[in-house]
Amino acid sequence: MTGFPERADLLIRGGHVLTMDRAFAEHSDGAVAVTAGRIVAVGPRSAAAATTAATEIDGTGTIVMPGLINTHCHAAMVLFRGLADDRDLDGFLRRVWAAETAFITPGTVGIGATLGAAEMALGGITHFADMYWHPDATVAAARRIGLSLTTGPVFVGFDGVDRLPWPARLQEAEAFLARHRGAPDLQLMAMPHSCYTLDAAQLAEVAGFATRHGLRIHIHGAESPSEMALVASQHDGARPIGVFDRAGILDRNPLIAHAVHLTEAEVARLAATGATVSHCPLSNAKLASGTAAVGALVRAGVSVSLGTDGASSGNDLDLWKAMRHAGLMQCLATQDPAALPARDLVAMATAGGAQALGLAQETGALEAGKRADILTIRLDAPHMVPLYDPYSALAYAAGREDVRDVIARGRAVVRDGRLCADIGAEISAVRALEQQIKEKGI
Ligand SMILES: [Zn+2]
Repeated sequence: MTGFPERADLLIRGGHVLTMDRAFAEHSDGAVAVTAGRIVAVGPRSAAAATTAATEIDGTGTIVMPGLINTHCHAAMVLFRGLADDRDLDGFLRRVWAAETAFITPGTVGIGATLGAAEMALGGITHFADMYWHPDATVAAARRIGLSLTTGPVFVGFDGVDRLPWPARLQEAEAFLARHRGAPDLQLMAMPHSCYTLDAAQLAEVAGFATRHGLRIHIHGAESPSEMALVASQHDGARPIGVFDRAGILDRNPLIAHAVHLTEAEVARLAATGATVSHCPLSNAKLASGTAAVGALVRAGVSVSLGTDGASSGNDLDLWKAMRHAGLMQCLATQDPAALPARDLVAMATAGGAQALGLAQETGALEAGKRADILTIRLDAPHMVPLYDPYSALAYAAGREDVRDVIARGRAVVRDGRLCADIGAEISAVRALEQQIKEKGI
């Protein structure tokens, strides 16, 4: 794709451009032009020789690639990073829920989500899907840093940290949609937490809510052995995917976080209903939840993307580590070193993320017409030399420290490895909260 304009808002000139389009097109000495937040041309640098731009970034000596997409996260949970290590999902949730009950307010979500979004931006993430209490605060935090966001009203069957009983929770969900519908930087989904925190009737109500509003659903499912046992005890011996199916959740093309414990029939059912998966290998490993059968899902036609999960289970919001661990865990689980090749891992973190979110027309690849979500990756660190295969370097050697520039929706959010927003006030506020949490002795 060439067709460079005479004048652009932003031009990245030079660099090895990995488009991550369907053909995996590359330009070894390329250029990308951006106008009004959208990519208008991608091609060899020579084709952009006559183009001038208000802002020009020298991409020489970098890899230029799409921004990473984190399809499952609870950004504000950075507040509890390291507070509940070395326990399984059940033990983790008990301790974290105690801390949330005592300390979560719209204000603390705001400072936590700002740090979370900043951490993600510095690590090359330009869009994330977030499920958490008081989602308005996360919307504001993502905007403060400059990232786009998939989020929506959260549903649990009990009163929850936000102290909303069931009828009021549904009303608040309606109000949230009314406040945010149509925002160009937001994708809205209905976000029931799981089928162990909602009963069958409540899940069906959320499915109805999603249908009424034309929304997809984001939900945790089939994550760990303890969850499978809990769901069976609550739903007459059923398994999460069966519960989702009966409640109408699978009719809303859900994005399912984890999907570790699946039967062959469940994999086929997910494929048939258009469900997609956010695979969270670091969280799954750390909580000893299990290894998702990524290969079986992909072969069945399920779109599998990558998530970090929250930083209190992960324990960070690093999609480079998620890429690498996704590959390593598949090698171990299948005893096949080619189970998930490096290029597929990079695709899962970019175009695959967009696909799983239903945003493939919008982002995930460097193509004219798509949102200008673009990274430059430094290649001057010892671990990035030599560079026989850029996908291998990205999947198995690169890290957040190699992210030089991050452009999200055409705007620079990180330049030369430094965040453009000043978040000093939020860092001080989180340190003060840390003291309060320590004094409370949770
Ligand atoms: Zn989660």
